[in-house]
Amino acid sequence: MFPARYTSRFAPSPTGHLHLGSVYAALASFLDARTNHGLWQLRFDDLDTPRNVAGSIDSILKTLEILGLHWDNAIDYQSQHLDEYHAVLNDLMTQEKIYRCGCSRKNVSSIYAQTCRNQHFPAENPHALRLKTDSRQIIFNDDLQGKISQNLAECGDFILKRKDNIIAYQFAVVLDDMRQNVNHVVRGMDLLNETSKQIYLQHILNLPTPNYCHVPILVDSNGIKLSKTTLAAAVDLSKPNRVLFQLLELLKQKPFRELEHATVSEILEWAIQHWTISNLKMITKIDCGKF
Ligand code: GLU
Repeated sequence: MFPARYTSRFAPSPTGHLHLGSVYAALASFLDARTNHGLWQLRFDDLDTPRNVAGSIDSILKTLEILGLHWDNAIDYQSQHLDEYHAVLNDLMTQEKIYRCGCSRKNVSSIYAQTCRNQHFPAENPHALRLKTDSRQIIFNDDLQGKISQNLAECGDFILKRKDNIIAYQFAVVLDDMRQNVNHVVRGMDLLNETSKQIYLQHILNLPTPNYCHVPILVDSNGIKLSKTTLAAAVDLSKPNRVLFQLLELLKQKPFRELEHATVSEILEWAIQHWTISNLKMITKIDCGKF
């Protein structure tokens, strides 16, 4: 059998514009896919409807286009696959791998005490669906962060469908990556701690585990992660070549000075030819304060 083609994705949530930190992870994932002659797909993680912000899909698409980050295949939207998530939840319920939970969030400490695990909480009352977990050790090898080992007991029985009926990210992402044939995930370090839950779900659902690679997160000069909640500014698209050049420096690719004045496609071409992801090995955060 031929090895499957490298297949990857970028999965932004449409909760606002792309800031430098999100474009940083997108560029790493794009360059890694292109260097490996792989596919780079785009998916909108749009299930958390209360957090979605009107206009952000257009703004994200525009940013990617101006930066020359062209994706393969049709854009995927999680919201178009609700039936699939619910069908799998029904199966898991039949197999008694998940259970209804009526606990309110404020009564739940970070690790759920399994209060509802054997209660047969009534289906007609508002409830979340939780996955039964045990204390097994989940071990995987992250391309950049090395061997990661986490005991599932640290996650507890985690939620697959929220009480407000929203499908949880942890669960959706596993089915999404399978649907899009993703075998390489390159994303920010902020998701490293979520990965063992995703791997456990893959085991439960008999799905293959992709290769994971968590790139550093960008932090400001106070060490705070750039994010929408810290109101990180949208990427300045007036000089896209400058943005790409800065990102390549932050990705430790050591672009030569004059490259800053090249066109977007010339910069990307250079970056694909010189891409050395191992320059980011064991780095968890990078200060972009001076940019
Ligand atoms: N939508 C997630 C986020 O914006 C990314 C999910 C993923 O890459 O697995 O944080």
